[in-house]
Amino acid sequence: MNIKTLPVGYLESNCYVISDEKTLQCAIIDPGDESNTILDYIESNRLTPVAILITHGHFDHIGALEEVQAQTGAPVYIHAAELGGTGRLSGKLDATPNLRTYAEGDTVAAGRLEFHVIETPGHTMGCVTLLIIDGETRALFTGDTLFAGSCGRTDVGGDMDMMEASLRRLAALPGDYEVYPGHAESTTLENERHFNYYIRHANGDFPNQ
Ligand SMILES: [Zn+2]
Ligand SMILES: [Zn+2]
Repeated sequence: MNIKTLPVGYLESNCYVISDEKTLQCAIIDPGDESNTILDYIESNRLTPVAILITHGHFDHIGALEEVQAQTGAPVYIHAAELGGTGRLSGKLDATPNLRTYAEGDTVAAGRLEFHVIETPGHTMGCVTLLIIDGETRALFTGDTLFAGSCGRTDVGGDMDMMEASLRRLAALPGDYEVYPGHAESTTLENERHFNYYIRHANGDFPNQ
């Protein structure tokens, strides 16, 4: 498995291209902007996108979706709570060709790779985290739920109690994972368990606050 991070757009959203070196099939997570950057990487590595996985429907994670979907024809997966008129861009999202919804417990395959869907609402109601295990590599794509040393904002259509429940849920996953967030640098789950204030607060480490 190969994980390529492409920071795109003025908010530097992380678009990830995860490929299976054997079949050269890949999944694209959050084509947020700069479709040319994403499509150039795919073309120069001779990859075949078989799935576009959306962590949530904010514009900085779907800005290049229309173009990337049109050029690849790949099915687009998103949680149903991100659709249906709750967000200002949802009307456009709803009209995406080859659109499918995914939810807790679903899996999406790309070559030999299998992405597992974990619902992690809080930043938005339909935020998901994608979990993948491939040999020694264990990775979480957390969107705007969990960041290195932080978590996503909950003051624009989100909910802090739901965010805390989602952070507790991720922290309780057994073992360690590489964490690939929707913005900024990657981290590890073990690091965040120890040093992330929001995870520690969610876990009741600061009872007097
Ligand atoms: Zn967001
Ligand atoms: Zn974002």
